[in-house]
Amino acid sequence: MIKTDIIIIGAGPVGLFAVFEAGLMKLKCHVIDAIPIPGGQLSEIYPKKPIYDIPGFPSILAGELIDNLMKQASPFKPGFTLGERAESIVRKKNGEFVVTTNKGTKHIAPIIFIAGGLGSFEPRKPKIDNIEFFEDKGVNYFVKEPALFEEKKIFISGGGDSALDWAIYFAENFKNNVGLIHRSNFFRAHNDSVLKMQNLCKKGKISLYTNSEVISLNGNNFLESIVVKNSDGNTSKYFLDCWLPLFGLSPKLGPISNWDLEIEKNAIKVDNTLDYQTNIEGIFAIGDVNTYPGKLKLILCGFHEATLAVQSAYKIINPTKKVVLKYTTVQGIKGFD
Ligand SMILES: Cc1cc2nc3c(=O)[nH]c(=O)nc-3n(C[C@H](O)[C@H](O)[C@H](O)COP(=O)(O)OP(=O)(O)OC[C@H]3O[C@@H](n4cnc5c(N)ncnc54)[C@H](O)[C@@H]3O)c2cc1C
Repeated sequence: MIKTDIIIIGAGPVGLFAVFEAGLMKLKCHVIDAIPIPGGQLSEIYPKKPIYDIPGFPSILAGELIDNLMKQASPFKPGFTLGERAESIVRKKNGEFVVTTNKGTKHIAPIIFIAGGLGSFEPRKPKIDNIEFFEDKGVNYFVKEPALFEEKKIFISGGGDSALDWAIYFAENFKNNVGLIHRSNFFRAHNDSVLKMQNLCKKGKISLYTNSEVISLNGNNFLESIVVKNSDGNTSKYFLDCWLPLFGLSPKLGPISNWDLEIEKNAIKVDNTLDYQTNIEGIFAIGDVNTYPGKLKLILCGFHEATLAVQSAYKIINPTKKVVLKYTTVQGIKGFD
């Protein structure tokens, strides 16, 4: 059981900034996210796009903002459960909440911040009958630990940033040739990545199959081969160790809608006159996941919500202590040991 002061569901920019604000108030946080990397939409959808409306940064790449938020939170040593979806919240008799993930990891705290954005990102799965049988047995929708793919014969499907970035990474870092399969011959990925991929094809490091898609998976216990069909209707069989269908992620409010929270238009209703608390005392909702009159789904609005929610969380955890606002310029950053 992981014990902390605040369980934060969602490692997007708002969840990460809440760690910093909580740290200033000497509250410890543990962050859960369904995807294996922090950053929410910024890491998953637009890591290389510049953002122009973060105060003090005339322009900052989304990926860089996440790196900075992680750095800013680091003195407060947050815990992370990544690659696991928060599935249930149960309130104990003493008022504490237990949050359990889809993999059974349990977390306990008196306060929960839901910073779940548009919901948990789930991989877009190709429609192949037996695909679920081969999940984690040769079929992977994420690359959590690249080193595990060394020495492997890999095929990747997709034409976006994620598919090309990993094809390039494996081709440049591992000695095996990588297969890249794409439904069309137009790539959505960044131009630089497309050029890099084409260069690696010329060097024989990537084998490219355009206008093609995987139509069947074969193997006994583990994936052994795939069948690829091209737009002319011809099929070919390829033997391999793993196939990575990287077709992006789609957000689903998912388990959040089963937690007895008041939901309006796919978002959690909160009290914006005070602290962004939900209809359940001790559970706050901040960032894109909440709604209230005038709500704007912007990063800077989420930062503000996180700051006010932390003040109330402190009062719930320390009912007899007075909250005194101290400027960081005065108190500095006193991290946790
Ligand atoms: C293309 C694009 C451009 C944008 N440009 C700007 C811009 O210029 N300026 C701006 O201010 N905003 C911009 N936005 C909006 C901005 O990205 C969002 O406002 C911001 O990401 C919200 O942050 P968040 O932390 O609330 O949620 P998110 O970034 O959505 O992160 C939520 C996280 O919660 C996780 N999660 C959800 N449910 C669960 C669960 N049950 N268990 C575990 N994890 C869960 C998700 O996996 C996700 O990682 C843009 C958005 C897009 C798509």
